[in-house]
Formats: sequence, structure tokens, C-alpha cells
Amino acid sequence: MELSQAQARVDGWVREHGGYWDRFHILARLSEELGEVAGALQREQGLRPRQSSADLGEEVGDLLFTLIAFANANGLALDACLGKVLEKIEIRDGEAWKAKER
Ligand SMILES: [Mg+2]
Repeated sequence: MELSQAQARVDGWVREHGGYWDRFHILARLSEELGEVAGALQREQGLRPRQSSADLGEEVGDLLFTLIAFANANGLALDACLGKVLEKIEIRDGEAWKAKER
């Protein structure tokens, strides 16, 4: 699935379920979902005393869904955002990272 398709699909879901929250509310939710990814990874690695059935992939999916909703609410095209960062890391920063390889 292309990022633009994912954005359209999330947009459809959000609009059918009450519309977009305030952008800062979505940002807060994004932070919450990132914390849940950290918790799932800790459980997967046995770093949490309480056992539970956290699913890292599911939590990453929650984070991605929320990031897409955040992009939509801010009028951002994720294909363009990702294209820019890939160009930056592949071209501008490529040599810098190579120099740090051991
Ligand atoms: Mg979650």
C-alpha cells in the first residue's frame, strides 16, 4: 500500500468516526502510542516484571495509524515527507554516516 493510499484510508475512517481531533490532541496520542511501543518492546525483551501479551507489531500499527492521522490533520503528504528525508539521508548525509562506520 502506498502512503497516499494509507492516508486516504485513514482519512475515510476518521471522517466516518467523528472527524479529526485537535492537532495537539493527536500529538498527545502519538506520544502515548510511542510509549506503548516502548512497553511492548520491553515486555518482548523481558524487561518488565509483569507478563502480558503485548504485540510489538500491533503497537507499531497503532503508532503508524496515529502518525498518518497527524499528517492528515496537518495537511502533510507522507510520500513527500518520506521522499525528502530519504533524499537527505541518502545524498546529503550519506558520506557523513559512511565516515562513522567502523
Ligand atoms: Mg497502542
